[in-house]
Amino acid sequence: MTVYLVGAGPGDPALLTLRAAEVLATADVVVYDRLSVASLLDLAPADAERISVGKQPGGPRTSQEDINALLVARGRAGQQVVRLKGGDPFVFARGGEEAAALAAAGVAFEVVPGITSAVAVPAYAGIPVTMRYSSTSFTVVTGHEDPVKGEGSVNWEAVAALGGTVVVLMGAARCRAICDRIIAGGMDPDTPAAAVRWGTRPNQRTLRATLATLADLDPQPPATIVIGEVAAADLAWFENRPLFGRRIVVTRAQPQAAALAADLRRRGAEATELPVIAFEPPEDIGRLERAAAEVGQYDWVVLTSPTGVARFFEQLRDARSLGGVRVAAIGPGTAAALAQRNVVADLVPEQYVAEALLEALSEEGGPEEAGPGGPGRVLIPRAETARDVLPDGLAAAVWDVDVVPAYRTVAPAADPDAAARLADAEVITFTSSSTVTNFVDAYGADAAPEVVATIGPVTTATARDRGLEVAVEAAEHTVDGLIAALEDFFTR
Ligand code: SAH
Repeated sequence: MTVYLVGAGPGDPALLTLRAAEVLATADVVVYDRLSVASLLDLAPADAERISVGKQPGGPRTSQEDINALLVARGRAGQQVVRLKGGDPFVFARGGEEAAALAAAGVAFEVVPGITSAVAVPAYAGIPVTMRYSSTSFTVVTGHEDPVKGEGSVNWEAVAALGGTVVVLMGAARCRAICDRIIAGGMDPDTPAAAVRWGTRPNQRTLRATLATLADLDPQPPATIVIGEVAAADLAWFENRPLFGRRIVVTRAQPQAAALAADLRRRGAEATELPVIAFEPPEDIGRLERAAAEVGQYDWVVLTSPTGVARFFEQLRDARSLGGVRVAAIGPGTAAALAQRNVVADLVPEQYVAEALLEALSEEGGPEEAGPGGPGRVLIPRAETARDVLPDGLAAAVWDVDVVPAYRTVAPAADPDAAARLADAEVITFTSSSTVTNFVDAYGADAAPEVVATIGPVTTATARDRGLEVAVEAAEHTVDGLIAALEDFFTR
C-alpha cells in the first residue's frame, strides 16, 4: 500500500516522467484534477478506478480535507493510489499538505516530481527563464492571493526589487493588480512581459507585451506569466511547427490511426482518432488458409495493404514455402509490412494505386512473353470487398488469378461524442475509399470538417462522389505523403 504523489507535467503527455508512467501502469485508483490530460489517465489499467477531485462544471470542488481523507482511506485499504497533479506536486499544488496528512496517518507514500509549468511553459514559448548576465535568478510566485487587499503573504515589492525573471502562476485573473504592484515596487514598466496560455498543449498561445501593457491583452487562465528581460526572447519553436494547433481527425482503422495521429502530433497538430473502419476475419478463413499452404504453386503473391500482409502471414506456416514466389506490394507501407516479416518486395510500382501495379506486373510478363499457360499464376490476398481493377486487368492479360479474402472491413459502432469532436475539428483525413464511405454513412457528409484531405485520386473520387469537397490530395499516395501535403497546404 503506497500513495504516490505524482507530477503529471504541464500538459504535453510526452513530458511525463518514466517513474510516473510506471506507477500509473500499476494503479488501483487514480485521483486527478480537472486540468489533467485524458491520455495520461489512459496509462492506468482499464479497470483502475478514476476519481476526479477537480471542480466539476456547476458542481463544488472537493475540499482539501476530503482529498486528504480519501488518500488516507485508500492507502489504508491497501490500494495502489496515484494522486496525479499538474506540473510538480510540490509547486503550488498542495502536495505538501497531502504528504503531511499521509505521514500523520502512517500511510506509506512516495513523491514523483514532475516538470513544473513554471519552467516548461516559458520554454515551450521560446523563453529561457535565465540568461547568463541579464537574468541571473528566477522567482516563482503565486498570483492566487489578491495583491490589492494586502491580505496575501507575497511581498511583491521584494519580488520587484530582486530583479531577474519573475514567473507568476495562477496570476492571469489578477494580472493587472500584480503588474501594478511590481511596478510600484520599482520595476521598470517597460520590462518585457509575456503570458502563455495552455502551454505545451496544441492550443498554446503566447501574448507578448510589457509589464505596463500585459493586462491590456487580458490573459485568460490557465496562463503562466513571465516578467523580465528574457520575456522579450522569441525563440519560438513549438508554435512554429508546420501543423501547430491544427485540429485534425484521423479516420483510419486502429492501430494505424494511433500511428498517424502520433505523427501529426509530432508536427504540432491536435489529432483526434475517430476510426471508421475496423478489420475482421473474412467469412471463410479456410480459403486463405489453403492459399497460404499452397503459395509455392504461384508465380506471384500481390499484396495491396499492410493488413493484407498481416493476415496472410498469420496463415503462412512455413516461410520457406514462399521460396520461389515473387512478391509485389502496392506501395511503401505494404512493402514495409513485408520487410517487417523479412520479405523484400520484388516489385513496388511508381504510383501506389492498383492501375500502376497492374501495369508494372504486365511488364513483368505481358502476353507477348506469355507461354501457352499464360504469364503465370497470381495470388491476391486482400480485403473481401475491393476494386476489381487489378484482378480483372490481370485476367484480361491471361494471368491465372486467385483473389482470396484475407480480411473484412467493417464499420465500428458510431462514436457517441463524434459530433462534438467533428464540429471542433478543422481537417479530416481519409486514407482509403472505405474510410470515406463509412464516414459518410455513419455521420453524414455535412459533419465533415472544412478541410478534407485524401491519400490519393481514388479516395478523392469516392469523396467527391459522396458529396465532399476535397482540398488536399497527397501527391505521394502514402501516409507520409498525406502529412507532407497537409504541411504544404497550411504553410502556403
Ligand atoms: N503544480 C503545478 C502548478 C499548479 S498551479 C506546476 O508545477 O506546474 C496552476 C497554475 O500553473 C495555473 O494557474 C497556471 O498559472 C500554471 N499552469 C499550469 N499548467 C499550465 C499550462 N499548461 N499553461 C500555462 N500555465 C499553466
